[in-house]
Amino acid sequence: MIIKRDKDIIKSYFEDESGLLGGHADKIIFPENEKEAAGILQDAAAKKEPLTISGGGTGVTGARVPFGGSMLGTDLLNKIIDIDAKDLIATVEPGTRLSDLDAELSKKGLMYPPDPTEPNAFVGGTISTNASGAKGFKYGPTRSYVKRLKVVLSGGDILDIARGRIFADNAGSFTLKLKNKEIKLALPQYSMPEIKSAAGYYIKEGMDLIDLFIGSEGTLGLVLEAGLGLGKRPEKVMSFFSFFGSEKDALDFVKAAKSNHAMSLEYMDANSLDLLRGKFKNIPSGTKAMVYFEQDYRKEDENTLIDSWTKLLEAHNASMEKSFFADSEKEREKLRAFRHGLPEMINEIVKKNKLPKVGTDIAVPGPGFPEMFTFYKERLGQSKIDFVIFGHIGENHLHVNMLPKTDEEFKKSRSVYMDFVKKAVGLGGTVSAEHGIGKLKHAFLEAMYGRKALGQMAALKKSLDPACILGLDNIFPKELLT
Ligand SMILES: Cc1cc2nc3c(=O)[nH]c(=O)nc-3n(C[C@H](O)[C@H](O)[C@H](O)COP(=O)(O)OP(=O)(O)OC[C@H]3O[C@@H](n4cnc5c(N)ncnc54)[C@H](O)[C@@H]3O)c2cc1C
Repeated sequence: MIIKRDKDIIKSYFEDESGLLGGHADKIIFPENEKEAAGILQDAAAKKEPLTISGGGTGVTGARVPFGGSMLGTDLLNKIIDIDAKDLIATVEPGTRLSDLDAELSKKGLMYPPDPTEPNAFVGGTISTNASGAKGFKYGPTRSYVKRLKVVLSGGDILDIARGRIFADNAGSFTLKLKNKEIKLALPQYSMPEIKSAAGYYIKEGMDLIDLFIGSEGTLGLVLEAGLGLGKRPEKVMSFFSFFGSEKDALDFVKAAKSNHAMSLEYMDANSLDLLRGKFKNIPSGTKAMVYFEQDYRKEDENTLIDSWTKLLEAHNASMEKSFFADSEKEREKLRAFRHGLPEMINEIVKKNKLPKVGTDIAVPGPGFPEMFTFYKERLGQSKIDFVIFGHIGENHLHVNMLPKTDEEFKKSRSVYMDFVKKAVGLGGTVSAEHGIGKLKHAFLEAMYGRKALGQMAALKKSLDPACILGLDNIFPKELLT
């Protein structure tokens, strides 16, 4: 175990990609094995000392940013324990970087399908936020691939949970038998939307216990080991960035493309492209929107597919010739750098402006999406605040990033954000589809589920973490624990 206290060395752990400032902790402890990890949690619980778990620090909601107590860094718990190519399961420690996992899997012709986009994220972090990425359109979020979890609770007890074994009873509760005690978990009573969501604890009738821990943002326990479902790497993949002269053409194209079995269907608005032009000079001028799509295929289907995409693009006033195209891993890397460049540039601007990130993570059911999109444009136009819109349009999930430059603009953009939240909730949507709530979005979660539900979440947390030490102020305000 390594313990670091020197503030100059550990201060980078007091931040994530949200721009949330003021984080501090006395020390960061890096366990190297299960026994040490359990001991750290047990000790912190005995002393009632807050403990914030850190993954790769790529989160965008301030969830790993500590405000007092200690941190537990998972960086040294980074072994890929096993890759079972027959049963398609990888067993990994939580500090495994997504890029390292992918590198190992690619040697065996395998992949981890949810592919949360940021390669520096750790597996433990992506499980704790139920992350999803560009390929979520075809493969869904992290939750669908977590087959087993080993979790350390705050008293040091370890749960080893295989999916499909432990379900909530008819009264909506779990009874957990630990070493020296039995605990009853009463589940909150809100209904989750029927779309992917990372907003608050996962609660469903008859739910599987494993799902409670996925997306729990470091508040219920430490993810110590995970069994992850894998897929075979596709034989071939083609990727396109297609540019449209009008927003309407792009949106109509997306609507039509949804039935074309793409893996990804992603969108960037004109402001996103203007921002990217600073780095990528070859974006065609006059472009008002870009759609990125990727499709897996077999060699023999190549011509038919190209033909079908060509027709679809032409029908929406875009063309193959003016698209960026990649059909090899090397070429695709360039497109990935382009796509990933946008959130990276936004996060840099946020840090430079020294104001927390104001980026939405709202998704709505398909029928409500056109209304939501129109509402975004109207409110953003009225606000006069700089913004970009991009993201997972295939899942009706766009990130609106407002870029306030002053405290006044910041306040205004939070108020615009709340208007978006109310609209989305009215349309049956979620306030967070993949990033989680962290410390920056309590008010939005409350607007979605109500104050009572937040209180029920706090009560559930207290049953599993009676000392109230883990991930304080994540998901709901810590005051609800008193
Ligand atoms: C450029 C960029 C692009 C991004 N794109 C996407 C995207 O497309 N989709 C998406 O979903 N996200 C995206 N993100 C956000 C981010 O990558 C994800 O939220 C990711 O899941 C965070 O993982 P992490 O390891 O960095 O976690 P951290 O930021 O370190 O922590 C996140 C939360 O997980 C908890 N945690 C971490 N490890 C554990 C553990 N072992 N046990 C219990 N709790 C733990 C922390 O306490 C915290 O609450 C992007 C971020 C960036 C910077």
